[in-house]
Amino acid sequence: MNFTDEAREQWDRLSEQAKSEWTENLFCQKCRCEIDVANINGSIYEGQLALFHNCPQCGNKEVRLIDVSPRNQQTIDEDFERWVKAKKAAHPELFGKKPSS
Ligand SMILES: [Zn+2]
Repeated sequence: MNFTDEAREQWDRLSEQAKSEWTENLFCQKCRCEIDVANINGSIYEGQLALFHNCPQCGNKEVRLIDVSPRNQQTIDEDFERWVKAKKAAHPELFGKKPSS
């Protein structure tokens, strides 16, 4: 992972658990291929810590904003859970199946 100095400072304040949640089991939202943690870049985007990555397979660019305050972190987690549930209901074919490479 590559961080700007400012982003590194904020990232280091996250708990180990939070860090692993942001960096483990990442899949491209578009083609579902696995994202290599080494390819993630962290910087400050609109005042918030953000993780950027490019999908090596389809070129999809994704950004995930990390709110470093624990209370908002919780809210984001819940939103993500809801988002996953909605996505699973709408597109069950996208889950549980890895794309052939
Ligand atoms: Zn992709």
